[in-house]
Amino acid sequence: MPAIYLIDVTNRDGVQTARLGLSKLEKTMLNIYLNEMGVFQSEFGFPTTHHETNYIEANLELAEIGVLTPIRLEGWIRAIVEDVEQTFQMIPNINHLNLSISTSDQMINGKFQGRKTRDDVLKDMTTAVTAARAHGAESVGANAEDASRTDLNYLVEFGQAAKEHGADRLRYCDTLGYDNPFTIYETVRTLAEKAEIPIELHCHNDLGMAVANSIAGAMGAIDGGQDAYINTTVNGIGERAGNADLIAVILAIKKSKEFAGTYELGNNVDLSKAWKIAKFASYAFGVPIPINQPGVGANAFAHESGIHADGVLKDPENYELYDYEELGRGESELVETGREICTGEYGGISGFSHIMGKMEIPVKWQNREKANEIMELVRYANVESQKPLVEDQLVFIAKYPGIAKKLLTLTPLE
Ligand SMILES: [Zn+2]
Repeated sequence: MPAIYLIDVTNRDGVQTARLGLSKLEKTMLNIYLNEMGVFQSEFGFPTTHHETNYIEANLELAEIGVLTPIRLEGWIRAIVEDVEQTFQMIPNINHLNLSISTSDQMINGKFQGRKTRDDVLKDMTTAVTAARAHGAESVGANAEDASRTDLNYLVEFGQAAKEHGADRLRYCDTLGYDNPFTIYETVRTLAEKAEIPIELHCHNDLGMAVANSIAGAMGAIDGGQDAYINTTVNGIGERAGNADLIAVILAIKKSKEFAGTYELGNNVDLSKAWKIAKFASYAFGVPIPINQPGVGANAFAHESGIHADGVLKDPENYELYDYEELGRGESELVETGREICTGEYGGISGFSHIMGKMEIPVKWQNREKANEIMELVRYANVESQKPLVEDQLVFIAKYPGIAKKLLTLTPLE
């Protein structure tokens, strides 16, 4: 039975969003949390972008030593052979790629402006897929940008060609959030049946339907006999109005009416990490979680009006569809209201030792030299993120100083 898998694209779509970004250490922490949650794949970066090289290599190293496994780390590039060649030149050991090209006439005419025809697009994509395969890529996705505004017959042809040349998946991009659940279901079902290739759903929220469209598209793929891969971002952060929110997508798969039991996740996803990852992404991006966000918003389990409060006190199921504990909520959190010592780029050893000693599992050093080495890395991490580090980041740096150093090394090309 075909199933649904999650491919989170926060570290690609999320970070390319106007006004928003993450430090390399923050991107790494997100990959670690996604892996802990059981997310199938992280679109973790841009292999042809020079300032990403050390970050990408460091994360592949974490995969090698078993920290970032079993999650797949996949890079996003354009579906042109030059990008594939450059990728394997810069990151020879990258295993998973998504190759992107625009397929709609709007984009072919409006963006390429006569430089490419539909046939050129097909040729670019197939030669890029072939090249990625020749370089030994373990998995390759062919990405149809603006798929929802693409002629369906041409899209089927694109999917068939991708499959013939060795692509593992076709990414259906509703780049402008133009679809609705009814249209995306029909289109994706037809695509799955005719192109016979697993379908990725990449939905945007311009009309407020990103999650609903992802779910309906996944149904279409599965009803068409193919696996579905849903692209998510943490807290829905992405271009313009954003992407499908990771937690809301998982909740919709697990909890929505007549969905569970028929359309299932292909691997175990641990929803109890939801609270932690949503809070971290909110802190790292500097974007508050909306009060009414599904599952993780401050009001997601709050009741005030008489009838609701009375009802939920008698039986939570009267007014709650799922339990807050399932999402990792319910623990009380300590907020310092008095004196506080923070990490910072100009911090010293005394404050640093104080912070490390106060952690849940205090970190101790063999000697002063080691402590100084870690503190120096923490300073650099603060330079990069411009905000105090969270406990998990400090523990990460203390545990993997060599990898942290690589993440924090940004040297512009001559
Ligand atoms: Zn996107």
